[in-house]
Order: sequence, then structure tokens, then C-alpha cells
Amino acid sequence: MPESNRLPAELRYERDPTFKALVDCLIALISAGNYTPTELREALILAATHVYMHTPERPVHTFPAHLRDDAPSRRCSVCGRRTWSPSAFGSPCGMPQPAGDLCTGRFAED
Ligand SMILES: [Zn+2]
Repeated sequence: MPESNRLPAELRYERDPTFKALVDCLIALISAGNYTPTELREALILAATHVYMHTPERPVHTFPAHLRDDAPSRRCSVCGRRTWSPSAFGSPCGMPQPAGDLCTGRFAED
């Protein structure tokens, strides 16, 4: 996984042209009234599930951590966001909040 994938989405949007192109595509779909954000989220989860669950030769331990029941995770002490990235365990959350500031919580044990 590239290092930039661990950055908050706003920073990735600024620094990663491929990620920016994806976000701009989604902005266009939402702005045109074709899809709601909820529909896009549901479609994304369904697509990812199809890819990982419907590949017969893919063993369960290779599934992304968020699709496995046994993968360790930590939850942000303030906003509740969950991470499955061991390198983020115990680190600050930093999720952008609606007011523009960043979440001050840390990823701790549930
Ligand atoms: Zn948080």
C-alpha cells in the first residue's frame, strides 16, 4: 500500500492525482443528481464484497481486514472511526470534522 493511502482523504485529494480523479468523478455523479452519497457508498461496498468474496481461490486470510471477523482493529476515542491498520493503533485519528478541524481522538482498544 502506498504511504499516501494512510493520509486523510483531503490530503490525498491534494497530493494524489489518481485519488483526485476518482473523487472528481464522484463529485460529478453527485452534482448531476445521478446518485446520492449513500448510494455510492452502498455500491462501493457491494463491489468490494463481490471482488473479494466471489474469487474462489482467494483464501479468507487474504481478505481486507475490514471484511474479516478475526482481524484486530481499534476505534477512535472521540469520533468512533475504526481502523484495521496496525500501524495506526494508538496514533491520533485526524479525521476531518464538519467544522473543518481534525478529530483529536486516538485509535485505542474498544
Ligand atoms: Zn476520531
